[in-house]
Amino acid sequence: MSNPFDLEKIVRPNIKHLKPYHSARQDFSDGLLLDANENSLGAPYQEAEGLHRYPDPSQSRLRDFIADWRGVRKENVFTGVGSDEGIDLLYRIFCRPGQDRVLTTPPTYGMYTVSADIHNIAVDSVLLTAETFQLNVDEILNTIRDETKLLFLCSPNNPTGNTFKRSSIEQLIKAFPGIVVIDEAYIDFSEEPSWASEVVNYPNLVVLQTLSKSFGLAGIRLGISYASEDIINYMMKVKAPYNINQLTSNYAVQAFENLNTVRFNIDAIKKERSRLRGELERVPTIRKIYPSEANFLLVKIDDALTIYNKLTQQNVIVRYRGNEPHCDSCLRITVGTPDENKRLISALKQLTP
Ligand SMILES: *Cc1c(COP(=O)(O)O)cnc(C)c1O
Repeated sequence: MSNPFDLEKIVRPNIKHLKPYHSARQDFSDGLLLDANENSLGAPYQEAEGLHRYPDPSQSRLRDFIADWRGVRKENVFTGVGSDEGIDLLYRIFCRPGQDRVLTTPPTYGMYTVSADIHNIAVDSVLLTAETFQLNVDEILNTIRDETKLLFLCSPNNPTGNTFKRSSIEQLIKAFPGIVVIDEAYIDFSEEPSWASEVVNYPNLVVLQTLSKSFGLAGIRLGISYASEDIINYMMKVKAPYNINQLTSNYAVQAFENLNTVRFNIDAIKKERSRLRGELERVPTIRKIYPSEANFLLVKIDDALTIYNKLTQQNVIVRYRGNEPHCDSCLRITVGTPDENKRLISALKQLTP
């Protein structure tokens, strides 16, 4: 059975017919620039030199670096203000407020639902399987309706840390006539290959990545979306004209000029993750440490909420996830530096009766 997906049919009519804002820097970026009412005397202090100009609306240079790094074409790359902007734009392009729906697979990242609420979009959810946290493909397919426009899959998943089976994801991409969004915020900590290069094979696939985790640049707010050229063009059309500021762009480009350090740090975090796991295994109140392909570990621990509160009192802050489905008594712990992890372990051992 072939997928009846048709992009032009699922884009909201107002977006399809939208005439986008045309910004000055789209046309010219050098020459005698008297076209954008920028301040001709420049910025008011030395550190801000050059920032009197508007940034490149299409982030051409940065997108070249990203495309190179992932082995894709620049036309398949969109840069946004964190993954948040990518998610928000997908709602704006595809979901008619008060009419359309999205599907999520809890326990997972909370932002998909927050964004749905902002846009007045109904959320259907199909739980992951207990303990192994895998996709329930049949139930997802049964839950999908005509109004379902987006299916969010987070792999490696937050807060469970595992990736979903490639065959399950593939089955959903092939069957779902809406957009499958794979959130790969943690992909660089995983041994699984990214789905980014697959966007040329699947017109309904969008892959989200970010510089917030593996690149260590959460503060600059740089998110990446990969998709067909047609979808990327819609994202470009709907975004704010100058969504990526010049400082973010500069810092991101420098990260791509320092990929060796990025890779070194990813490797160090993966090694520390396995060392931390070994240490946590020796904490008697910890019942289970789930497999992780991310930079955190999900652990099941006796009296999780009490432990969480007592850790907080000692200024050791982890995330309580015990209210999430299938995550009874669970804490999510970010892999820290060896020193930070030592402090965490000693605090945990002190709390053990
Ligand atoms: C941390 C995280 C992100 C990152 O979001 P940004 O807006 O890019 O900082 C995205 N998705 C998931 C699942 C995350 O855990």
